[in-house]
Amino acid sequence: MQNFPVFKTRIPGPGRAGKDRKFDLSDPKEVEKYFQYKAGPEIAKIKKYLESNTFVAYLLGKKSAGKGTYSKIFTHIFGADKVAHISVGDIVRTVDEEMADPKKKAALVEYLKENYRGFHSLEEIIKSQEERGTGKPLLPTEYILALLKREIDKSGHKTLFLDGLPRTLDQVSYSLFFRELIGYRDDADMFILFQVPEKVIDERIKNRVVCPKCHAPRNLKFMVTKEQGFDEKENEFYLKCDNPECGGARMVTKEGDEMGIGPIKERLENDGKLIEQAFSLYGVPKVLLRNSVPVAEASEAVDDYELTPEYILKHAGEGKVEVTQRPWTVKDDEGIDSYSLMAQPVAVSMIKQIVESKF
Ligand SMILES: [Zn+2]
Repeated sequence: MQNFPVFKTRIPGPGRAGKDRKFDLSDPKEVEKYFQYKAGPEIAKIKKYLESNTFVAYLLGKKSAGKGTYSKIFTHIFGADKVAHISVGDIVRTVDEEMADPKKKAALVEYLKENYRGFHSLEEIIKSQEERGTGKPLLPTEYILALLKREIDKSGHKTLFLDGLPRTLDQVSYSLFFRELIGYRDDADMFILFQVPEKVIDERIKNRVVCPKCHAPRNLKFMVTKEQGFDEKENEFYLKCDNPECGGARMVTKEGDEMGIGPIKERLENDGKLIEQAFSLYGVPKVLLRNSVPVAEASEAVDDYELTPEYILKHAGEGKVEVTQRPWTVKDDEGIDSYSLMAQPVAVSMIKQIVESKF
């Protein structure tokens, strides 16, 4: 699929006479100032809108494209009392837990008796939930819709960031009428489409690590902790968790991650087709986000500190580790040398496009 347009987040500085504003995007306080600097008026507009309105956004991006991250940033800016991130994956996992508890299971069955409509019997539905996993067909769409409705009713009438619907091509048409189904008939809705090069997803997976104690995620290449270590025996670097309660625990890799996108190739291909399908829809506003910017266009479009750095770890002897960084260059899916963007500039682009499409 063709690349989405590059969105300019760079505000031209005063030039030689003065200095461009710079922000440290790893510092939460700076991030707040950054958003005000880059999108202050748009944020004010959305805040005003959310005082008495809501909207529904369907997030579509390849697996591990970071959809959750952008929902979190949006929720952080506008408040959890106004915005809910609803993930089909999370809901289905919660139902797994409910199934294991007889009381909760009975309540769920009761809810489905009242609210589920579809071609599969309730017994079949329960069976497919209990047997879900690799190799089994996806859960029936009508069942997913009933679960989504339950979750949305629970969260109160908030702006929704929906992650996981549509998941398949035949679900795209459901999303066109979904707001009626959940009682959001008069709300605005939109697709938010994410374009992330597969190489970026691949490297993120291969280098991600997690704290065995607090489960904080980090990345050996893109998001390092303050302290690192070198394991001479294994000849590998590792990160020590920053959380004071973890006592510098050695962060670990999940088995299988070394294969990167290998095991999810087919899923990524399907996700790609889904984005293409949504892209070609008429009548629904679309927000187009891209994680990468061609190296040749970068200085015009973005500021240096908005680029994802690549951290290079070097063993300096006696277990000591030296860390340097540089902007990470990666080929996008068209084979163009590109930089990968930090999450915040992508969020700026999202906020501005939401305002353009709706307000
Ligand atoms: Zn930890």
